[in-house]
Amino acid sequence: MKQLSEKIARVSPSATLAISNKAKKMQRDGIDVISLSIGEPDFDTPRHIRDACIDALNRGETHYAPSNGIPELLNAISEKITRDNHFSCSPEQVIVACGAKDAIYEAMEAVLNPGDETVLLTPAWVSYEPCVQIAGGKIVRHAVNQKTFQLDDSLLEQVNAKTKMIVVNTPSNPSGAVFDKRSMKLVADLCEDHDIYAMSDEIYEKMVYGKEHLSLAAIGDMAQRTITINGFSKAYAMTGWRLGYAVAPVGIIHEMSKVQQHSVSQATTFAMYGGVAALRGDQQCVEEMRKEFDRRRNYIIAELNRMGYETAPADGAFYAFVKVTGNDLEIANRWLGDGHVATTPGSAFYAPGWIRLSYATSMEKLRDAMGRIRRVG
Ligand code: PMP
Repeated sequence: MKQLSEKIARVSPSATLAISNKAKKMQRDGIDVISLSIGEPDFDTPRHIRDACIDALNRGETHYAPSNGIPELLNAISEKITRDNHFSCSPEQVIVACGAKDAIYEAMEAVLNPGDETVLLTPAWVSYEPCVQIAGGKIVRHAVNQKTFQLDDSLLEQVNAKTKMIVVNTPSNPSGAVFDKRSMKLVADLCEDHDIYAMSDEIYEKMVYGKEHLSLAAIGDMAQRTITINGFSKAYAMTGWRLGYAVAPVGIIHEMSKVQQHSVSQATTFAMYGGVAALRGDQQCVEEMRKEFDRRRNYIIAELNRMGYETAPADGAFYAFVKVTGNDLEIANRWLGDGHVATTPGSAFYAPGWIRLSYATSMEKLRDAMGRIRRVG
């Protein structure tokens, strides 16, 4: 038979899934595995958001909706962006997609031509690179400083005439680092001086501990060349809803909209009503989850440091990023095989020598997991 697509054959399957599949198999075999490899809040979606979705279903909101999203949600997002992220955004600059991941994919397809280079700051979340590859672009990886997890002038060395885009993710999955003003200004200057687009994935913006989250599009004229990615999965514990969005100049949204129209069509109609309730409703639920993550973060970081592990500055998201001596894949496999604790090796994020531990799990499980890691070393 004829060969399947070479382009897709070159894309690696999600590296974070390998160890979590192994952990799931162990669980199926009756082994008590604690999973610190998950990238989703352990809380349920707040009640008022679920109710808004149920009401929408019962009202008969079960039909096709406008492809870019229902007007109520586009309005709620544009108001949220203008208010919280400090740059002006009209509803025409918004597209609602099936999760932030879908918005990222659509943006890459809309912006990149074959051979266009995209600078990826590493450690980086696993899906940016495959999305660039699928769009035909070329990835240029640039490691952030492995002590401060901030940027410096060495970033400039990655730029050439083919550079089309840079991907920024703050707070970062997997490192938990939050970019400071200097790092963000460096990216903004680079984009403006060399005519580069930016993708700024701010999906963890609400999970910041004692630092300020900065939006790239709010710096200088960056709103003209930035695609801001955000969603509901993390802030409102809505991973299964598959609801996310992008905010960008109208010309980019127009192109992303074509990708959406001819693929997923739209985000699920009744789910979008839940999104409206999330953004328009009381934000106390977000703060409560943030506080609980902060409590767990303080515990896990202190515990890891007590064991002698160096950790990346855990200022945001819900991950501890731990430096290990030796091969991170072997160590993560040992923690799983001997300690029955599932984690994610840094190699999955192009950061060998590190391991990511998610603290989006109960305090009780975290305590148990720390005891197990201490035992197996
Ligand atoms: N960006 C980052 C950095 C993430 O960690 C994730 C989820 N793991 C996503 C985007 C995708 O989120 P969604 O569920 O909205 O597709």
